[in-house]
Parts: sequence; structure tokens; C-alpha cells
Amino acid sequence: MKELTHFINGKHVKGTSGRFADVYNPATGEIQAKVPLATPDEMNAAIAAAAEAQPAWAATNPQRRARVMMKFAALIETHMDELAEMLSREHGKTLPDARGDVQRGLEVVEVCMGAPALLKGEYMNDGGPGIDLYSMRQPLGVVAGITPFNFPAMIPLWKMAPALVCGNAMILKPSERVPSTALRLAELAQEAGLPDGVLQVVNGDKEAVDTILDNETIQGVGFVGSTPIAQYIYGRACSNGKRAQCFGGAKNHMIIMPDADLDKAADALVGAGFGAAGERCMAISVAVPVGQKTADALIERLIPRVEALKVGPYTAGEDVDYGPVITAAAKQRIEGLVNSGVEQGANLVVDGRDFSLQGYEDGYFVGPSLFDNVTKDMDIYKEEIFGPVLSTVRAETYEEALDLVITNNYGNGTAIFTADGDTARDFANKVNVGMVGINFPIPVPLSYFTFGGWKKSAFGDLNQYGPDALRFYTKTKTVTARWFSGIKEGGEFHFKAMD
Ligand code: NAD
Repeated sequence: MKELTHFINGKHVKGTSGRFADVYNPATGEIQAKVPLATPDEMNAAIAAAAEAQPAWAATNPQRRARVMMKFAALIETHMDELAEMLSREHGKTLPDARGDVQRGLEVVEVCMGAPALLKGEYMNDGGPGIDLYSMRQPLGVVAGITPFNFPAMIPLWKMAPALVCGNAMILKPSERVPSTALRLAELAQEAGLPDGVLQVVNGDKEAVDTILDNETIQGVGFVGSTPIAQYIYGRACSNGKRAQCFGGAKNHMIIMPDADLDKAADALVGAGFGAAGERCMAISVAVPVGQKTADALIERLIPRVEALKVGPYTAGEDVDYGPVITAAAKQRIEGLVNSGVEQGANLVVDGRDFSLQGYEDGYFVGPSLFDNVTKDMDIYKEEIFGPVLSTVRAETYEEALDLVITNNYGNGTAIFTADGDTARDFANKVNVGMVGINFPIPVPLSYFTFGGWKKSAFGDLNQYGPDALRFYTKTKTVTARWFSGIKEGGEFHFKAMD
């Protein structure tokens, strides 16, 4: 049994707590490693060491910090296949999808290469008589990143790259279900020139997280995970005086207007609903066709596409559409929700229950399910299923569809498929959701924009990556300066004769 470590002060360090979490291969159900769960003492020691390393890193000029990002990006690219394989083995997603996971994180590192330009402050000459004002952006100090299981490379990179390039030290607490990729990324960052101690990967569970939240040295907390935990972490971090941005769960709707290209909409829904087994915070889990004719025609197109989905292990090659879900408990929960949908009266038009894959009977595979005639009061509508289940809620009008999105508790992503620019524009303007797709099902913004949801999908200020991240990871200091008349007026410039 492989025993994983922490990565502290540039070295792999064995856990001392005697507590471990099992790391599974979700395709086979086998335990492939155990990951140590840090004690408060271990966590506090890692934070103290990060605090020692941080001032010298902050004093390293931004261009040099950016050069570390350049090398880091090059190393991630060189090790792309290795990282993808490593994360598929623990997460279960297909290899092309795993490469996308690494790639979307790499793109944030690439933007961080340009951080010196983005870190420049403001300047006003003669803001008052002889008075100049300027602002500077200074790192927070030691910050923490707490990340979920579903993007083992991308989300740790979203956290670490902006935090580090701003001159902070970071404690990264990855998901205990997929810890290896973060450990490997820390090795690559060190190889790229990051000084020891500036990035500490400390594995753990609630005990480790609570220690971060209560430790006075930690100045900022960036969290991504489920909504109840996001809200809890936000509350505790804020009450301890820390800056916090905590991103939570989602229930993303896609509206399909009668004038939409229904084949394209059906293709988009199948990819966005079932890709990565539906375990994406930007997955579309609710299709909202407008008008009965649109709904009937859409369902007719969706059924064969959903039935044709190929479910399998990442080792089966590029032909597989999606892999297993993360744990046996997740599989059980998803299948329980599908049962509840049937009991509460939705039409299960494709039934993914009782799915089994020959040779992988112990893996956590869940077949694809498609529901029609779902209503707002059903559990499958109210809960974030986070599995390969697509619900269809029929709307009579565009206004009814829009209202459904607006009144939903979550506000991470949403999309509209239409041929009408005016409807699309109206939707983008009115909807209270952070990321909007127009004929685009998963609108994860490119890395030079920013990522963040609204409503119960995010707590705190500013978004992830892009310019917002550099604001989150720096404090602004503003200087008002006046120089009294000096050598220019009072100095003597002639060669003085001796008296
Ligand atoms: P999770 O909330 O269970 O875990 C996230 C992190 O919090 C992990 O590191 C975990 O160790 C820690 N944690 C778990 N329980 C805790 C507790 N009681 N106290 C303190 N820390 C705790 O989330 P998950 O299952 O790993 O990830 C899936 C969720 O993440 C989904 O809800 C998904 O929508 C969401 N997500 C959101 C975004 C976004 O940007 N909004 C992106 C990806 C995933």
C-alpha cells in the first residue's frame, strides 16, 4: 500500500498523526494509496515555516517571480500526460478530459507570467499642490487554498499560481480523495525555482481545515467545494478576520428556445450534462425547452444520444465518454436521487440505474439517466446531483424559463440556445448568474477573464483567476507624498571661495 506524504519546505514529509484516508481507484473500487491527515500541530508548523519563507519571496521582484511561473508552465506542459494519467487514476475521468483539467490550470499559470504588468499600482501627479498620490499592491502574507475532488489539477493551479506570483506563501489543502496531483505540482513548482516553504501541500480533512481557519498567520482563504462547506468556511474565516472567497455548488440550467438548432443543442446538452460523469460545477443539469413542440423534439433527439454514451475506465482509451463517479457513497447517493425522481413523478426516459461494466463490477460507474417533466418541487431539481443525470423542466414561455433560472438558489453557470440575438442579449442582461453561455453550454471563461458564481454558488468578494485573483491576493496601500523645497532652491551650486 502506497503511503502518500505532505510536501513541506521543499520535501516530502510523512504524516505523524496516524490518521489516514483511503485513496481509491474509482474504476476498480481498489484502495491504491493512503493519504495522511494532518494534525493541528503539523498544520500549524507548516504555516509557521511558510511565514518564514514568505518575506524573501515577497522581496523577490515581480519579474523574477513571473519567471518562476514561466518555468512552471513549461514543466506542466512537459509533464501533461503524466499529470493527466495521475489524476485520472484517482478521479476516474477520461484521459482527454484529464488533459483539459491540466490545460485549464496551465492557462492560469500563463496569465500569471504577465503579473508584473497587472500588479502595477496607480499614480496621480499633483493630486494637490505639490502632492502626489500612488498606490501599491502588496502580498497578504500566508494564504490557504482548500480544493475539491473534481478538478485535481485545475483548481489547485487556480489557487496557487495567482497567490504565489503576488508574493504570498500558500498552504494548499487538496481534496483527500485526489491528493497526488497537487503533490506532483508542488514538486514541479519547486523545480521551476520556487523557494522551499513558499508552497506547502498539507493533506488533511476537517481538522486540518479548521486549523487553517483559526490560525492567526493565515491572511486569506480561497475555497472551492460544496455550498454548505463553502458557507461554513466563509463564516469562520471572516469571523477570524481573514479575507475569504469561497465557491460552492451549482444547478446550471440551459434554455432551449424554439428557434434553436436542436441537433446542436442536444449535442451540447449531452456533453455538458454527462461529461466527467456530471461531476463539474459547470455541468448543465437542467434542460429548459421552451414550448411543448420544442420539448418533444429535443427529447426525441436526446434519447438516442444519451443511450449511446460509452461509460468506462480511463484506461479504455479515447473512445470512452465518461468514467466512474468518485466514491461508492456518491454512486449510492446519485442512484437514490434517480429513484426519488421516479417516485415523485418525473418521467425517466433513459434509465441509468443498475448499470454494471463487465470486468469492473466493483467500480463506481453510474449509467446515464434522462428525466422529462421534472418540476421545481422534486428533489432531483432542488439538489445538486453531481452525477450523470439530466433533468428536463418544460417551460411554456421564455419568461417562465428565465424566471426558473432567476429564482434558483444557485447561480454558477447558465446557457441559452437560440438563433435570436435579441433574446440572447435580454437573457445575458437579466439573468442573475455569474457565467453565461450563448449557444455555448459550459461557459468557463478564459483565464484572462475571471471565474465565479452568484447567489449560493459563491461567498465573499472577487472571482477566481484573472485580474480579480491578483486583487484578492494583494492588499492596496496608498501613499500621499509631499516634498518640501530642498536642494533645488536652497542648495549652493557655485564653487565657494574660502573665507
Ligand atoms: P467538499 O465541499 O466535500 O470538499 C471540498 C474541500 O473541503 C475538500 O478539501 C475537503 O477536504 C474539505 N472539507 C470537506 N468537508 C469539510 C468540513 N466539514 N469542514 C472543513 N472542510 C471540509 O466538495 P467536493 O465533494 O470535493 O467537491 C464537489 C463540490 O464542489 C460540488 O458541490 C461542486 O459544485 C463544487 N465545485 C464548485 C466549483 C466552483 O468554482 N464554484 C468548482 C468545482 C467544484
